[in-house]
Amino acid sequence: MSWVNAASCKLFFRADPIKIVRAQGQYMYDEEGKFYLDCINNVAHVGHCHPDVVHHGMEQMAILNTNNRFLHDNIGKLAKRITSTLPDPLSVCYFVNSGSEANDLALRIARVHTKQNDIIVLDHAYHGHTCAVIDISPYKFDGPGGEGAKDWVHVVANPDSYRGKFTDLNSPGEDLGEKYANELKLAIDKAKEKKRSVAAFYAESLQSCAGQIIPPEGYFKKAYKHVRDAGGICIADEVQVGFGRVGTHMWAFQLQGEDVVPDIVTMGKPMGNGHPVACVVTTPEIAASFASTGMEYFNTYGGNPVSCAIALSVLDVIERERLQERAIETGGYMMQRLQALKTKHTLIGDIRGIGMFIGIELVKDHKTREPATTEAQHVIYRLKQERILYSADGPDRNVLKFKPPMCFSQENVDQLLEVIDKVLSDMENGEVDTSSEKTQHLMYGSANGPKIISSSAKRAITGLDEPVLKKLCR
Ligand code: PMP
Repeated sequence: MSWVNAASCKLFFRADPIKIVRAQGQYMYDEEGKFYLDCINNVAHVGHCHPDVVHHGMEQMAILNTNNRFLHDNIGKLAKRITSTLPDPLSVCYFVNSGSEANDLALRIARVHTKQNDIIVLDHAYHGHTCAVIDISPYKFDGPGGEGAKDWVHVVANPDSYRGKFTDLNSPGEDLGEKYANELKLAIDKAKEKKRSVAAFYAESLQSCAGQIIPPEGYFKKAYKHVRDAGGICIADEVQVGFGRVGTHMWAFQLQGEDVVPDIVTMGKPMGNGHPVACVVTTPEIAASFASTGMEYFNTYGGNPVSCAIALSVLDVIERERLQERAIETGGYMMQRLQALKTKHTLIGDIRGIGMFIGIELVKDHKTREPATTEAQHVIYRLKQERILYSADGPDRNVLKFKPPMCFSQENVDQLLEVIDKVLSDMENGEVDTSSEKTQHLMYGSANGPKIISSSAKRAITGLDEPVLKKLCR
């Protein structure tokens, strides 16, 4: 496939990749008509190929698609709709085509507004793939092929209550929010000593690639204060965690209280349910600074009527299908069941999450919290054998990441946890030697494992009869 796929592009399940040919709701179908339960795809937010989203996209495509130098109702409607979900004074939108582009633009805006240069980021964070945002993504610049932090980038500790810098293994730390926020103050002071000044603090409202981290209470309020006292602004990256995934709120930064209001919010992935549309939202004051340079902002595809129609439709579906409530119910049910599993399985070190954003951290030992990386990879592999798509992430790749389409059901949770329960038991009972060469091979995928999903189970989890399934899988 090298003629279409540069060697740096990597597939899921590299040794035994899946060719997906269609998808619907929380299910993906391969070329042989086999279906997979999707626990990975936070992009297909309201469900793969949601009929309303498809309809509105097709309808607008047949009428007009052009750049945003013309007036069009869709762009105004979308800006109004998005800003109505955000606190004041976040009321100015710039439409772009990807999360990377949104963060790249936010960086430029922050530097113009503050007339300062440096950026503070959280350890292990990922903010995108352009040159500028790779430079603010420790996940990349500290990873394979990375060149380390540039002198204008200051990396602060991830506010991880389970295995972070301030986690006292004997007694859970108090005031973790304050302790982690003080790390920003230290970074700012160090930068000042070097005659450097901080333009912005970038952080995901809940760290995703960094291991499904829920920051401690009070963290952002205190961190933002340190940044603003130093003349910088605060950027919330909601590309993975926004659009109601957390259930109780539309935006994950809102979990930290009404007095936490970022200066810029970036959003993407779920916004178009798979169609490339993303956005930067800021305040009128910051937008005025950005305009004052005289350099225009133009983006050929950003804010085109088709993308806006699709994003509007996604917002409609979230509301009409009460997907935030569903996130609370299904996510709550999963957390409850996971707490029970945690008492049974020594491999489960920590369970954390909110709504449809959940992490299961596997450890070899509860006292030392040594990451169970190989075991996590084995779980992913076994889940794939049972046609459940799942991923692991975090600095040690030992956190099983749950971020499915929001239509995921409680029956789906049962299906998923039945397999996880079984795989963990097998490993704990010594039935799987994860250190053996054979398992190392399996981790990266081999063909044809057992399939425990029967026809009736298929019906139960898809809610579809065999003939309908067959038709869908054609
Ligand atoms: N920010 C975060 C938090 C992300 O997870 C990602 C994508 N994984 C991006 C930004 C970049 O988005 P995109 O891939 O749409 O450019």
